[in-house]
Amino acid sequence: MGIFEYFRPPGAARDKVAIEIDLAAGVLEQCLVCRGISDQQRDERLPAAELLVHQRFDHADPSIAVFAGDREDLLRRLRSVRDRFDYRCACHSAG
Ligand SMILES: [Zn+2]
Repeated sequence: MGIFEYFRPPGAARDKVAIEIDLAAGVLEQCLVCRGISDQQRDERLPAAELLVHQRFDHADPSIAVFAGDREDLLRRLRSVRDRFDYRCACHSAG
């Protein structure tokens, strides 16, 4: 394991799961044209995303194994991952 491996930002795999759940619940949207992900401030969809988190932990879904039982961390990441996305995807920004 090299030094860069050691200092790799932690949680990339966890963020990936959080993004996937945000997409499934409609908190984030993925453009069918450019595949870009956008955050259109759909906060009203967050409870649906949180419900998905609880369901996956309650059923020990393999997709959340990377969290090692840390449900709170995933609930936090549902919000924190949104910071990296713009309101519109690239192709809609250009238009
Ligand atoms: Zn697009």
